[in-house]
Amino acid sequence: KRSGRQRLMFFDASIDEAHRAKQSLRDELRDALLHQALSVVYQKQVRDGRTVGVEALVRWAHREQGEISPSVFVPVAEESGLIDALGNFVMRRAFLDSRKMQDLRVSINISAAQIRMHDFVEKVQSIASETSVDPLQIELEITEGLLLGQDPEVRQTLDRLRQLGFRIVLDDFGTGYSSLGYLHRYPIDKIKIDRLFVMKIGPDAKYDAVVRASVGMAHALDIEVIAEGVESEAQHARLMAAGCRDFQGFLFGRPVALEALLAERTGATASANAAAGS
Ligand code: C2E
Ligand code: MG
Ligand code: MG
Repeated sequence: KRSGRQRLMFFDASIDEAHRAKQSLRDELRDALLHQALSVVYQKQVRDGRTVGVEALVRWAHREQGEISPSVFVPVAEESGLIDALGNFVMRRAFLDSRKMQDLRVSINISAAQIRMHDFVEKVQSIASETSVDPLQIELEITEGLLLGQDPEVRQTLDRLRQLGFRIVLDDFGTGYSSLGYLHRYPIDKIKIDRLFVMKIGPDAKYDAVVRASVGMAHALDIEVIAEGVESEAQHARLMAAGCRDFQGFLFGRPVALEALLAERTGATASANAAAGS
């Protein structure tokens, strides 16, 4: 069908193979969810050299294949109805972990398929009360695709989450159909400028202007901005020149397990105290 209708195509063994590979990945993912083989890592978000938040990112260490990227298995979960279980797992873990880093905002990726579930708000609320987390500490990252349809139910869900205190972040800003329209039609607290833009800034002056315009537009609407995928000092400097203050990327730290993050923070505090002579 994808190559056009009204055609005759012969069966190709590779189609069958791809289908089977997906099916087995789905079965293994279901298994991994049941046997707690998934984990969550955290990547720092910084402002003026200080860590102010983290993004929670799911990880799957497959028995034979090693680490499988969430860009591969999250879509599989979305297609097979496992996203509910996966999403709840990440949320519960991140909520629990957030209590060990109460001075940081914790940002969690939410799939469009999760938001569209009729009981999503109740789910989030119940996991929050079960884990005694303060919604004010939590950011929920959504993607532009969700806003495309201008679905009144989506709007209502986002409004309710915000009333509970959660903040809404628009992830991967600039990759989809970003428009000024979404920014004031939907309750959005922050946009995340995608890595694709960050990569183009510098080599192509046009993009410096695009980023500066996006930052200006967001700030005019009282929306915060963070740039993601920052890998070099040069990109960092250009982004600051374009008005960005918040950053996330390998330049500041890779995603790490909670223990490593906490150990690093304790180390940093200890050396700061030593330097201050306390
Ligand atoms: P995302 O939400 O845009 O997350 C940022 C991705 O960029 C992460 O990849 C992160 O490891 C990577 N990254 C961060 N800094 C840099 C950098 O400086 N350079 C480069 N090259 N990459 C950087 P990851 O963890 O593989 O996640 C990929 C995507 O999978 C995420 O993109 C998100 O869309 C999805 N995802 C990850 N965790 C979850 C989750 O718990 N739930 C849902 N629904 N989706 C998730
Ligand atoms: Mg994200
Ligand atoms: Mg992103």
